Amino acid sequence: MGIGFWLATGWITLVLAAAALADLLPFAGYDETLAGPPQSGPSAAHWFGTDGLGRDVLSRVVHGARVSLGVGIGAVLLGLVIGGPLGVLAGYRKGVADAVIMAVNDVALAFPSLVFALAVVAFAGANLRNVLIVLGVLGIPAWVRLVRGATLSFAEREFVLAARVLGVRDRRILWRDIMPNVAVPAASYAFIGMAVVIVAEGSLAFLGLSVQAPTPTWGGLINEGRTLMETAPHVVLAPSVVMFLTVLSFNLVGDRLRALADVRQSGLEPSRQAEPLPAATRPHAVGGALLQVEDLRTHISTPRGTVKAVDGVSFTLERGKTLAIVGESGSGKSMLIRSILGLLPAGASRGGHVHLEGDDLTGCSPEEMRQVLGRRLGTVFQDPMTALNPVRTIGTQVTEPLRVHLGMSRKQARQEAERLLASVGIPDPPRMLRRYPHQLSGGMRQRVTIAMALSCGPDVLFADEPTTALDVTIQDQVLRLVHRLREERDMAVVLVSHDLSVVRQWADEVIVMYAGKVVERGPAEQLFARPRMPYTEALLQAAPRLTDPPHHRLRVIPGRPPDLAAVPEGCAFRPRCPYAQDRCGEEAPPLLADTRDHLYACWHPAGSAVAGAPEGAESHGR
Ligand code: SF4
Repeated sequence: MGIGFWLATGWITLVLAAAALADLLPFAGYDETLAGPPQSGPSAAHWFGTDGLGRDVLSRVVHGARVSLGVGIGAVLLGLVIGGPLGVLAGYRKGVADAVIMAVNDVALAFPSLVFALAVVAFAGANLRNVLIVLGVLGIPAWVRLVRGATLSFAEREFVLAARVLGVRDRRILWRDIMPNVAVPAASYAFIGMAVVIVAEGSLAFLGLSVQAPTPTWGGLINEGRTLMETAPHVVLAPSVVMFLTVLSFNLVGDRLRALADVRQSGLEPSRQAEPLPAATRPHAVGGALLQVEDLRTHISTPRGTVKAVDGVSFTLERGKTLAIVGESGSGKSMLIRSILGLLPAGASRGGHVHLEGDDLTGCSPEEMRQVLGRRLGTVFQDPMTALNPVRTIGTQVTEPLRVHLGMSRKQARQEAERLLASVGIPDPPRMLRRYPHQLSGGMRQRVTIAMALSCGPDVLFADEPTTALDVTIQDQVLRLVHRLREERDMAVVLVSHDLSVVRQWADEVIVMYAGKVVERGPAEQLFARPRMPYTEALLQAAPRLTDPPHHRLRVIPGRPPDLAAVPEGCAFRPRCPYAQDRCGEEAPPLLADTRDHLYACWHPAGSAVAGAPEGAESHGR
């Protein structure tokens, strides 16, 4: 925090203590005239000297602090109590509530606040209560804006998404996950707001529109002393310096807290319910499949048009199998997972069907989905640091799904959490449960998120790039752990990854995605041995190998993935494909069968007669 922070905190504490104990301090009364010789400078008897009536300036400054700090604290609390809940409502609910609250707020912000304060106090009467209410009400719009922004930011963090995935209720998410995090920027603004209110009250007092004489205020003392500037400057300087130091200290403490909040902000993610798209197919559950995704589509409305983030994806997955989803960034891998889980960004619409052991999840209400998320579908996110709430202990976070979903008592949940942590290879679980996420290494944090995802014994574990944030050794440990747990629990795993070596080692089946569509699907062994879609072939060629010679230049896929708001006609990969022919620009290829299980979307697949010697293929392929 630095020495400045502690000096500022010390000064604020000193001023607050002096104001609170003013009546007990060995000073002359603040209105006791001729307590000393008039206009005398600082002395042992009167540390800040005396004013024109011989009153003790130190006593008047200390009593003045009561008014200035009282108005500062009271007005800030008033603004927080009214503006805070409105900001949370706007930031978390979004939609109509957000639009209405922010429209009213913007109108309120358009008023010139000081002129408004002057007018109201002049009309209603200059006293402590009126000044406090006016300054508090004027602070409400700023509170709404600040709390809404912080709520929006934290509502989109992965640990909130993780809580939703676990089926935790909104009220609980607000109290347990969002409010403690919003409290830090709110505390920061509270200190800065107090500084602003103290200055505003001082300005009103200087104009004679605050608490009236003989009760002293800092602004009023400065006003009284300005006629004595030449003969007794200490009368003005004493309250000015105390006020300056106090305002500076509040600002400094607020700034340090804001810096703390900034470090903890960085985020992600969305709202919960998607509007359904019209059904393109009639649902039909495939017998024997644990998870069946059928013609799943997720479209997002943006100012540039509709983004087809997931466009007609279908697959089935059986118990005990690992399905890998691969593709470049932006190909729709993570959005596919979120679409399956029903956790979509605002403005997204979903169509198609997701069956879990025959139950159609796309028809579930939010309440029904809460019973599925966490209990039957577990999720591990990419970055364990952002997936865990930084202000809650590991124990609180691991026991939460056990208590919410399985109704365990605190003691039972604690025992089960210890067992879970031990099962994912975490040493000394009781000690680990008392720690915070920042006290753990990346590998340990990811083990904790895996333990949380497995806590209710899900049927399917979704692992969205679970090892991207980890080093190679830890990556291997985590993937081995997931594989072992899959075997032990007979669950299915959906692994999202851009690392083909990981996919080759751990997946049974592979889906390759491009521009939101499945462009190749099949058993991992077949797909790696004989890729048919040129995009899959290019991905495999771009992956580095240990057998590559030294100084070997890695191959890249030319061009960039398409803008999903303006996908070209025909095959989306055509601008980057060395095998492209005329037909590719006219007609999008459907999924064609290479073997019964191996499908690809290409008119001229790799290895076919037409694609055998493509123009320029050598410059792109290995
Ligand atoms: S359909 Fe044509 S453009 Fe698309 S991948 Fe196949 S050959 Fe290339």
